[in-house]
Amino acid sequence: MGSASEEFIGSIDQGTTSSRFLIFSSTGDVVASHQLEFRQIYPHPGWHEHDPVEIVESVQKCIDGAVASFESQGHSIKSIKGIGITNQRETTVVWDRETGQPLHNAIVWTDTRNQALVRKLKRRLGANDLQALCGLPLSTYPSVGKLLWMLENVPKVKEAYDRGVLAFGTVDTWLVYNLNGGTRTNVYVTDPTNASRTMFMNIKTLQYDEQLIEFFRLEPSKVFLPKIIHSSDPEGYGSLASTVLKGFPITGCLGDQSAALVGQKGFTPGLAKNTYGTGCFLLYNIGETPVISTHGLLTTVAFDFNGKVTYALEGSIAVGGSSVKFLVDNFGFINKSSEISALAETVEDNGGLVFVTAFSGLFAPYWMDDARGTMFGITTYTQRGHVARATLEATCFQTKAILDAMEKDSGKKLTELAVDGGMCNSELAMQTQSDIISIPVNRPAMRETTALGAAIAAGLAVGVWQGFEELKNVNTEGRTVFTPTIPKEEAAKRFSRWEKAVQMCRGWLDGN
Ligand code: ADP
Repeated sequence: MGSASEEFIGSIDQGTTSSRFLIFSSTGDVVASHQLEFRQIYPHPGWHEHDPVEIVESVQKCIDGAVASFESQGHSIKSIKGIGITNQRETTVVWDRETGQPLHNAIVWTDTRNQALVRKLKRRLGANDLQALCGLPLSTYPSVGKLLWMLENVPKVKEAYDRGVLAFGTVDTWLVYNLNGGTRTNVYVTDPTNASRTMFMNIKTLQYDEQLIEFFRLEPSKVFLPKIIHSSDPEGYGSLASTVLKGFPITGCLGDQSAALVGQKGFTPGLAKNTYGTGCFLLYNIGETPVISTHGLLTTVAFDFNGKVTYALEGSIAVGGSSVKFLVDNFGFINKSSEISALAETVEDNGGLVFVTAFSGLFAPYWMDDARGTMFGITTYTQRGHVARATLEATCFQTKAILDAMEKDSGKKLTELAVDGGMCNSELAMQTQSDIISIPVNRPAMRETTALGAAIAAGLAVGVWQGFEELKNVNTEGRTVFTPTIPKEEAAKRFSRWEKAVQMCRGWLDGN
């Protein structure tokens, strides 16, 4: 039974494969949660869509499910002070502002259908100036390319644009709009962490930038862009129009990787987190001034609390935990991902094997799209255990490469890496990570850091926490710290072997 004064925060975690609603206590514990998977739509190779209506409905059902469990524990919904949202970034939804109806399925961040369009944009005058303005280079990821593809290929979208009723949104905007009741209330907003993934927002002013919009040849009067408000805001995100939490305010919003940094309490410059999910995303807090990377990283907004903007450098690894899943699904070496450590521990080391898991090229900081997965150093001695170790090491080495780039860009040295995501469950992987980067790796017991980050954004807006100082004791219990067990020289030797393997992968596709 909760005490009358206890305060709780709800958190919507709208991810790529599932939606969830979690209810956190003010000490950062998960009191109740509900999760629902939804349909992944793959119309063609390289295409990836979600049904926008299904996204909203799954979130609503999760809210009802989690609240039922919350109440069954004797808590009162009145003790829920606010709701935060965290969401898959870049995924793009378009709808008709007059009807509130979506005009196409959501195009998911992983979708690469706009490759040819992006190639064309890269040749356009001014393409090289974009990163300095918005923090991102042109690629298939940012939302803009997904919107442009729909304008070129979906007549309904082009018609709405011509009539001046086209609404564009990332998933946060779409959710907030619908959870508020759609056309009835017309709450049409986003936060800077999400807006910084569109390529429309100036990374310094946090406003839409004319030069960017002009570059993409969009007419501002024909496409509505959501108003950018603070990540933590007591009123701007409106309130729920339905579900058992009808009338409860949405008070915080962060894109998923920014939310994980906040959930790890990476509030000050020099702190970094790595999320080892399907892919792997490393965010490094660089403080109040954006740094444009010259070493293959992205610049993004980490959070904007009370108008105080904090930036991060971001490095992404395309294949992270999915390399482990690859050994399960494609090689059948193990039955489930959690068995990887035991298989790797059947041998003492990698036996000279290096596995560059470049299944779809390599992302940061290498950006090699002409490489494919390659193993080096196979001999008759090579066992499955060696492959397992080399697989875990591949993600750890790429993390090291990103950290090196981050230190070069920021001029600061990282002292500790906070970790979360499925693959961090492997003790061996995290020990290996610490060995390779020669600094401690810090893993929380409560790994719902992305959802916690959104709860923190929401809680700061309504005074559940007054500031960062008060969050000191949130999610501190039961952390595991992995410290380096090999000398730096040995770590450097192993890393140079990896770098050699990466260089040898280069050009494999030879332009084909
Ligand atoms: P996402 O949010 O991207 O779906 P998760 O954070 O749930 O990802 O992580 C899932 C990934 O983590 C899978 O690719 C899986 O192979 C990997 N994984 C899960 N458990 C383990 C484990 N014990 N050891 C190593 N990898 C794991």
